[in-house]
Amino acid sequence: MQPEEIGWLRRGACRSSDPDLFFPLAPTPLQVTRAKAVCAGCQVIQECRSYALRAGESDGIWGGLTPEERRRARSPETYRRPAAS
Ligand code: SF4
Repeated sequence: MQPEEIGWLRRGACRSSDPDLFFPLAPTPLQVTRAKAVCAGCQVIQECRSYALRAGESDGIWGGLTPEERRRARSPETYRRPAAS
């Protein structure tokens, strides 16, 4: 990640939050909800979400999305197909 790519992060609402909330080792639904609540009030949520999707960030909450939600957003076709039996 290049510093110029994430300059907007300096304005992120998570700067004053516990990093473990956004990068938990074993996230609980409550942690995810709390992290998303911080993101919902963040002035750079669009920049953050776009960056995470473009960069393929695989861990943590970025732009109010979990890793699973980002995977679905990047590859919606994969998630629409029925599972192979
Ligand atoms: S959208 Fe969320 S993760 Fe991204 S900078 Fe804002 S608070 Fe941090």
